[in-house]
Amino acid sequence: MPDHGHPVTLSVSPKTSELPVAIIGAGPVGLAAAAHLLEHRFTPLIFEAGARVGHTIRQWGHVGLFSPWHECLDPASVRLLQASGWRPPEADVVPTGRDLVEQYLEPLAALPGIAPHVHLSTRVVAVGREHLDKVRTDGREQAPFVLHVVQADGQRVVYRAQAVIDTSGTWTAPNPMGAGGIAAAGELEAADRIRYGIPDVLGAERSRYASRRVLVVGGGHSAANVLLDLARLKIEHPETQIIWAIRRPSPERTYGGEETDTLEGRGELGKRLHQLVDMGGLDLVPSFWATQITRRDDDVLVTGLQHGERITLSVQEVVVCTGFRPDFSFLRELRLSLDSALESTKVLAPLIDPNLHSCGTVPPHGERALRHEETAFYIAGIKSYGRAPTFLLLTGYEQVRSIAASLAGDQAAADRVALRLPETGVCSSDLALQDADEILGSLQAAASAGDGAAPSTSLAAQPAPLGVHAVEGRETVAGVLQTVAKGGPCCGNDR
Ligand SMILES: Cc1cc2nc3c(=O)[nH]c(=O)nc-3n(C[C@H](O)[C@H](O)[C@H](O)COP(=O)(O)OP(=O)(O)OC[C@H]3O[C@@H](n4cnc5c(N)ncnc54)[C@H](O)[C@@H]3O)c2cc1C
Repeated sequence: MPDHGHPVTLSVSPKTSELPVAIIGAGPVGLAAAAHLLEHRFTPLIFEAGARVGHTIRQWGHVGLFSPWHECLDPASVRLLQASGWRPPEADVVPTGRDLVEQYLEPLAALPGIAPHVHLSTRVVAVGREHLDKVRTDGREQAPFVLHVVQADGQRVVYRAQAVIDTSGTWTAPNPMGAGGIAAAGELEAADRIRYGIPDVLGAERSRYASRRVLVVGGGHSAANVLLDLARLKIEHPETQIIWAIRRPSPERTYGGEETDTLEGRGELGKRLHQLVDMGGLDLVPSFWATQITRRDDDVLVTGLQHGERITLSVQEVVVCTGFRPDFSFLRELRLSLDSALESTKVLAPLIDPNLHSCGTVPPHGERALRHEETAFYIAGIKSYGRAPTFLLLTGYEQVRSIAASLAGDQAAADRVALRLPETGVCSSDLALQDADEILGSLQAAASAGDGAAPSTSLAAQPAPLGVHAVEGRETVAGVLQTVAKGGPCCGNDR
């Protein structure tokens, strides 16, 4: 019988220190956490909401990563795999999401050391401390964690654990199209015409987009992938029309470092998109702040503000690539220490704040930077970055290595973090300075136009619209931007 952890119905409760370490989510970082925990002789207890491991990555399996294989593999997982005779893929080849799942995550999850501990189709719906709500302090650190899960058959089961690592990702909570982070009016009602994420435009979802007028909203790598796929679709279906709306005044940040990016795939993505825009392969709508969606016959009318003017884009399909945000709903009974803007830990926030930089050259960080007030609870993987978009797998692997070492009592090993991430070749901090003026101008124009959907005058009158947040212990965005403007160092590098 597989190891079912320790459901609370057991008549004899083991001591907290004998309990397994629970992992929420069997993505690449969750499975890496399991490998590191096994090396420290912990029993992992892995819950995966999807029917198969790598469930989220399967949703974008058609997309090529920009990291080559050697930057996609976790060292502890590779050690386990190689002991079973697995041979790593060619180091410099760049996998697709599907390759990553089939050639790496599936074999890893099937290893005899891991497979018995993976609970598929099992969604964690609540985590807390046994018999202690969030308010109770006495005995909190000694109390086991309890994880309430819902299985495929709908049954709710409770497990105990000595520690919890939440690697559940952010994919299930996409940001809305509404420019202020709140769904635009009519956005929820138009759900059947809006696709969040990265649709398989050239494969399974081809018929949905071929010969249609498609609006892509967002300025990140996901948008770049969708736009380039739509451009390929247009070659076969020339009536396909592509409209790209971004909030920023220019797409420069999406292009990134191009040739100077040390991740060739990421640079290439920016370069090809740049060429597509220059060739007129799509209609670019910059400085666009979506406020409303309405339906007219077969059309979807997306209304927004551009330089204070109300404009409407008439399309048939909308793809929203505005990023993702973490879901904390099932962590309500835990004491989290979150940055009020980014929703990462407070220590991590200034290192990854997209207001400041997009370099990806995040200083190495481990267990200490990931601590919450709730002892022995961690958020790792892409969810640890909260709303920041620059997460890389290598970061997640180092995070869980450090967490496992700390749980095992080897804090010296936990603190020995030495990770150097590939640089984008461009830091957005200088672009953010340019954007700041234009965005402020846009907000002020909207406010003075008296548009009901426009931001309020008081917001527009504020001096710094870039989400300045004077959080205790953090430098304000304005302060850091000023440092950068003066030629100061960014992301740990002198520029
Ligand atoms: C299109 C795309 C391309 C990317 N390319 C790269 C790249 O080239 N290089 C790079 O380093 N990074 C890349 N990333 C970023 C990042 O490495 C990936 O997003 C990666 O999948 C993050 O891994 P993770 O384990 O943290 O989360 P995920 O892969 O999102 O895994 C989370 C898992 O948790 C499960 N889950 C969610 N909620 C629950 C719950 N309540 N209970 C149980 N299970 C749950 C999900 O089903 C999922 O399987 C890319 C991301 C995207 C979207």
